[in-house]
Amino acid sequence: MDRLFIEAKPVIQQLKNAGYEAYYVGGAVRDYLLKREIHDIDIATSATPLEIKSVFPTTVDVGIEHGTILVIYEKKGYEITTFRAETKYIDFRRPEDVMFIRSLKEDLQRRDFTINAMAMDEEGNIIDPFNGQEDIKKKCIKTVGSPTERFGEDALRLMRAVRFVSQLGFKLDMGTEEALIEQAPLLQYIAIERILMEMEKLLTGKYVKQALKIARKTQLHEYWPAIFKQDHVIDQIVEMPIEELDNRHLWLLALYLCKTEEPQKQFKKWKMPMKEIKKLLRALTFLNWRMNSKWTNVQLYRAGKEIAVMVEKLVQVLQYEKPQSIEAIIDKKFAEFPITDRSHLAITGTDILEWTEQTPGPWVSQLLNQLEEEILNKNLPNEREMIRRWVKGWENQSRDKCSKH
Ligand code: ATP
Ligand code: MG
Repeated sequence: MDRLFIEAKPVIQQLKNAGYEAYYVGGAVRDYLLKREIHDIDIATSATPLEIKSVFPTTVDVGIEHGTILVIYEKKGYEITTFRAETKYIDFRRPEDVMFIRSLKEDLQRRDFTINAMAMDEEGNIIDPFNGQEDIKKKCIKTVGSPTERFGEDALRLMRAVRFVSQLGFKLDMGTEEALIEQAPLLQYIAIERILMEMEKLLTGKYVKQALKIARKTQLHEYWPAIFKQDHVIDQIVEMPIEELDNRHLWLLALYLCKTEEPQKQFKKWKMPMKEIKKLLRALTFLNWRMNSKWTNVQLYRAGKEIAVMVEKLVQVLQYEKPQSIEAIIDKKFAEFPITDRSHLAITGTDILEWTEQTPGPWVSQLLNQLEEEILNKNLPNEREMIRRWVKGWENQSRDKCSKH
């Protein structure tokens, strides 16, 4: 058994000693059977939230209304969820109302896919009423029960199906795929934050091409951010050697290919963090520029190492070339630069103001830009006295120009 299961075993044992049932459930059991790395352990129990709290001295009410209590044991947190059935589903979303039950099988029955609907006891015995193990062998994603009903109850499952394809490289069961085609439009009722979270997992998956092809075939992509909506974007991406690209590269690639007029608006609508949006838009500017030009020292410096590497990888992929490892090449270039950041300049804007005795304004930053270029192009050393002379020279020149007018 995996180390994480062994560490969590006393938690299960304490629930059992108190007279309740308790099992490992969900993704951890699936990943254990798949021999994939396990991230976190989820435990399901017949104990109600209050009963769970009476068993353990340290708990946090993370989602008590849904039956989830965080138990702190040996400095680690374990999410323990009471067996539950979900009753009413409103607007194709998971219900707010849950009903606590005492049956493991019913709890497993409300779960989305057979591969996610297995439990394991503390001895390692698998409880598998919906043949999840068989579907693992067949590499198949199949809903527990009628796919039409299950997607209708909670349309996020449409996204989850495709993101598991991306993570596991499994195929969709035929019935599940047919229901996905039929019910793709239900995704419009799901909160964008939830879709985006699944989207990020999908774009990080090892089998992302397979998942993108399914999204395109089932038209699920029509309910994704506009950047991915156009058919040609996905059609092009799946033909490119994208295997080494992470999710942020794929956002940038789609952004480049979709040629949308107002990318910032799109990202904001999808509630992406502002920092991420800014980085992507900066990277897009450099990518557009780089597609028709070669890097100069100054442009590399302006882009910064991270964006330069990202752009360079995409330039290769857009030419249908497998990206070579360019980090080392770009690292070497940056190592040769006299400065790699404005803060490395031997002077500051305040020095310029003191030397010139002029009033502050945007000209200071413009002058610093010029100065950076001179230093990067090795026309001027990054030394205080040399720079002071250079600034004085610039001042005299601009005075001459003014007096001529
Ligand atoms: P990951 O490795 O990404 O954490 P996971 O399968 O553990 O994958 P979670 O979102 O952590 O996914 O959910 C834990 C378990 O809860 C799932 O394995 C599944 O049994 C159940 N589950 C999660 N979301 C849904 C849903 N929308 N509908 C039904 N069951 C769900
Ligand atoms: Mg999980």
